Amino acid sequence: MSGADVPPGSIDTRPTRLAVLRDALARADLDALLVSSLANVRYLTGFSGSNALLVITAKDCILLTDSRYATQVEEEVGGAATVRIESTNLWTGLWAQLGTLTSVERIGFESTHLLHRDFARLLEQGNRWSWRPTTDMVETLRAVKDAGELAHIERAIAMAETALRHTIPMLHAGLTETAVAGILERHLRDAGSEAFPFPSIVASGPRSALPHARAGDRVLEVGDFVLLDFGAVTAGYCSDITRTFVLGRASDEQREVYDIVREANLRASGALRVGMTGMAADAVARDYIAARGFGEAFGHSLGHGIGLEVHEEPRLARVVESPLAAGTVVTIEPGIYRAGWGGVRIEDDVFLSVAGPRVLTGFPRDLHELS
Ligand code: ZN
Ligand code: ZN
Repeated sequence: MSGADVPPGSIDTRPTRLAVLRDALARADLDALLVSSLANVRYLTGFSGSNALLVITAKDCILLTDSRYATQVEEEVGGAATVRIESTNLWTGLWAQLGTLTSVERIGFESTHLLHRDFARLLEQGNRWSWRPTTDMVETLRAVKDAGELAHIERAIAMAETALRHTIPMLHAGLTETAVAGILERHLRDAGSEAFPFPSIVASGPRSALPHARAGDRVLEVGDFVLLDFGAVTAGYCSDITRTFVLGRASDEQREVYDIVREANLRASGALRVGMTGMAADAVARDYIAARGFGEAFGHSLGHGIGLEVHEEPRLARVVESPLAAGTVVTIEPGIYRAGWGGVRIEDDVFLSVAGPRVLTGFPRDLHELS
């Protein structure tokens, strides 16, 4: 059977991921990497538990977890790592394991994923090794999705869109934002979502001007913007989508702001190219919104990568000078927020390949007036 005949997700990609990481370790002059980010552990081994440390060397891949996960770790990891179940403390196990590895001296640690308490352990109990801070060694690999990962993300998007389709007919004046979030999350579960990537955002009326509003006890009124920002999760992979509706008839002012955001969204997703910087992508939407007179009203970044985490590499933001790689999946989420009045955000998920951008979210972007 040729590779192309293998259904997406059925190929074990973990050996390739390890090989690429080992090359990066060699280039960084490191003998090993201590992985403490649980998302990175999952990416490299398949293990999805909540307590783990992973050591990668040129030859070894050692995963430490505790006895609660003895069965799960065997099922999820198989032969992809040497598993050690620790009955006391993972760090005690780590020193014992490292002690068995010859020619390991310089070890990288993930500086953005280590508590200061644990860093102190490296300098005290771990002082026979030389510890070097690293950033984004695994995250850089995770930014580029393989076919199986893309298929998971597309399934998570389909779940979110199904849930939204079922939620819309149930929206009406008199519901609280929390009740709307409950309806949406119930439909996400019904669609098969295994979790929520973040607490679903439902922001209505003036509260839609708060880009990261939580659903609250405000009651929906006719004339409100109703902004829903939410996602689904399957096999650990997230989707992230935002749609903004008007309850009843939209005013001319609402329609004007909505159309600007929709146009900024379309321009930015259509302009994405491999090699473009995160800054240049962000500017496509930002410059358009500014030219239409709302530059001050778009405070946040254009978008972010999605995958095993809902916010991951790459970032599409004003300060990002690194170029976009082929195979990334990013959100495009411009918005306009006017305090006391309301706000609009339209967020889509886009796969970027050498052939150009492919918008994965299919939910309509036309202004929808909820009846
Ligand atoms: Zn979102
Ligand atoms: Zn987002």
